Amino acid sequence: MSGRVATQATTDSLFPTVLRVDSFRAIIEGIEAAILVADRTGRLLAANGAAKIIFGLLESADHQNINIFEFLFESDGRDILEELTTGRAWAEREIVKGESRKIVRVRLTPDSDWLVLQIKEKIADAASGPGGTQLTVQELLQEREITYRNLLAAYLKLQEVNRQKTVFLASAAHELKTPLAVIKGYYDLLLAGSLGRLTEKQKDILEESKESCERLVRLVSMFLNYSALESGKLVLQLRENDLRDCLDEMAKRWAEAFQRKGVKLEVQLDPSIPTFRFDYQKVQQAAANLLDNSLKHTPSGGNVALVAKPHFWERRVADAMPSQERRRFRLPRPNSVEVSVTDSGTGIPPEHHQEIFEDFVRVDRNTSGMGLGLAIAKRLVQAHRGKIWVESEAKKGSTFRFLLPIEQS
Ligand code: ADP
Repeated sequence: MSGRVATQATTDSLFPTVLRVDSFRAIIEGIEAAILVADRTGRLLAANGAAKIIFGLLESADHQNINIFEFLFESDGRDILEELTTGRAWAEREIVKGESRKIVRVRLTPDSDWLVLQIKEKIADAASGPGGTQLTVQELLQEREITYRNLLAAYLKLQEVNRQKTVFLASAAHELKTPLAVIKGYYDLLLAGSLGRLTEKQKDILEESKESCERLVRLVSMFLNYSALESGKLVLQLRENDLRDCLDEMAKRWAEAFQRKGVKLEVQLDPSIPTFRFDYQKVQQAAANLLDNSLKHTPSGGNVALVAKPHFWERRVADAMPSQERRRFRLPRPNSVEVSVTDSGTGIPPEHHQEIFEDFVRVDRNTSGMGLGLAIAKRLVQAHRGKIWVESEAKKGSTFRFLLPIEQS
């Protein structure tokens, strides 16, 4: 009785399987990718045309007695089945077929309990060496295109994040302005004696606190200037102005700070500088940043000179000419003004001469600052179509110079 039941069971379970395999064979034949179908034991049930070509199978391959575990992986397939019964959607194996490497992805179809194997070419990578599949030019170009797009998208995202950070810092800096102005106002009141007499010691302490407060005010306004430039708000107010007035006014504002530190400030403004079109505030700000630095980096007892004079600026076209032609090219009158700030301070080693003009770059960590003063000065000078540079040696002082063209074309 048990034998009859067994025979019945085998016939029942095989019959529908054979039927379904036939219809499944028709389906996989229409698929471009190479597909093999096997039962749980690994017995090959069907192979489509692409798979037959890859593995050199006969047309009647699915009727042959092939075990795909042995045939493809040289194993009993237990590891694959285990992987598939632990809830994973597929198991993946790499095989070598002739000169190329292939990826075999094995799935278990839940109702029929078949193994469906999809075979793909392995894309060669840098590490795969000569055995790896070579990428076609087309694929390389596609990959490059994708990498380029991804990089561009990441760059744009970073730029946006950076802009948001600047906006956020600017609003935080803006919030600091009012309380700082109030604090500074009270220092002035106290020091003027309006709120009662002060002892010498109290006066000294208040002077020092006021200085720190002023430094904070300068840092905040430096940052606000920078963020305004960053968010594209640099609009020049070009008017016919007198550069000597502009620089003299600024130097007078700094005179007290120089005196306090014991650094001598000399100002030489050539009377032959003509009036010309420039932005009064912005040029004043650029020069003030240089003067601020010279004071910061010059010890007590040192000297600083602010000089402005007419200048013959032969731009590159003229520089590139042979010397004879250059002489003929001689300009009839100065076409620019050179402003320089020379100090007898700490100096700057040549390797930092370029980078100190970049945003947030600081070399001397012993002084306060945000590394923005020169970056701002550079933007302001360049907005006037001018140029700025430094001449300096470590421990031998520095000269910062900028040129402003007189004729704004
Ligand atoms: P900050 O003064 O806030 O550090 P700056 O952009 O004004 O930023 O200057 C960048 C760096 O250049 C400074 O950290 C400093 O090391 C150097 N530097 C600028 N001016 C001078 C100077 N006159 N003498 C020596 N070093 C200077």
